[in-house]
Amino acid sequence: MCKPDFWKVRLSEVRHTVENVKTGSVETLAVSPGGHPVYAVSYGPEPEPGTSNWSAAMGAGNASVYRDGTTDPQRMVLVGACHGAEMEAVAGLTNLIQILETGRDFAGRDRREIQQLAENYRIVILPCLNPDGREKSPDDMIGRSADEALRINQGEWNDGTAIGYPACKEHQPLHPADCRTLGGYPNRDGYNLMHDATPGDIRTAEARALLGLVAREGADLVLHMHSHAKAPEILPAHHGMYDLHRIRTTAYRRRLQEFFQERGLDVTQIPSPDPAATWLCPVNLATMTTLASGALSPVYEQPCGSHGYDIGYETMLEHALSAVELFLRWGLKEKFSPRMELMYTVFDADSTPFTYRKEQW
Ligand SMILES: [Zn+2]
Repeated sequence: MCKPDFWKVRLSEVRHTVENVKTGSVETLAVSPGGHPVYAVSYGPEPEPGTSNWSAAMGAGNASVYRDGTTDPQRMVLVGACHGAEMEAVAGLTNLIQILETGRDFAGRDRREIQQLAENYRIVILPCLNPDGREKSPDDMIGRSADEALRINQGEWNDGTAIGYPACKEHQPLHPADCRTLGGYPNRDGYNLMHDATPGDIRTAEARALLGLVAREGADLVLHMHSHAKAPEILPAHHGMYDLHRIRTTAYRRRLQEFFQERGLDVTQIPSPDPAATWLCPVNLATMTTLASGALSPVYEQPCGSHGYDIGYETMLEHALSAVELFLRWGLKEKFSPRMELMYTVFDADSTPFTYRKEQW
């Protein structure tokens, strides 16, 4: 199948999109082991640095010394293709850049509503965090069988057997010499960027650059945009999140469901009560982006069209743009990361959220 022109997911197309940026500013955040730039495209006022980092600000009990947040716009960081074979977010974010530049997506559709919503924020877009994985992956996963998708994503050992999921995570890094192909999941050196997330042992330039960006931006929201073989979903809160963020993430699971249903988009039906309230996910790069700035760091998964999930390019683009729009809309109603509340809100023994007062220290 020939991809439509608006489906800009190849490295050359990412580069071309970035080279045409006029309103935003472009920065090369890092260079991958394969020699490819990791771009960040930003819109909105540059952040003013505080007098402290997020950790020390928490220690001071005063979030404003890191990030004032009372007068300046909220700051969003949108991250695509942490796993290079998951190109749906690359299409979404290259189109988002085009929308912020022109009010239209690459298919020429009028998207001024998104463009206007975005004007309320500082937005930094990383269309492709893992260009090495992207380079060796196809333009789409539509119609791939489960086995094919597994081999494209997670690669094959030298004997031709699939490395598999989650078995691929038993090796960090996967050694390229052991593999016929690493797949599009890791970078060229075999690192799964989502799990290059052990403090004191961050090994990839890509993860380090993202964390540095988030800390320096004082990001309020970091949206990690991934893909899977099912209907769209915001994953349960990851381990290590603040209690308030856990509540927020659970709320956003429901909000995404409602927003997508209103638009006639397929979406994962969240059971009620949502077991995500007590879910403990592993520590990963989303945990690290939360620790870097106090950002709410949800992981969004959208369908890629493998495993018999029937979907086309237009719908995949809507899934990506609608997820971003959900946060653009909700960010006007409540702050993504109200840092003072964040520091003082915890669950009591009955799992009821309550707020500590500073005097209680
Ligand atoms: Zn992923």
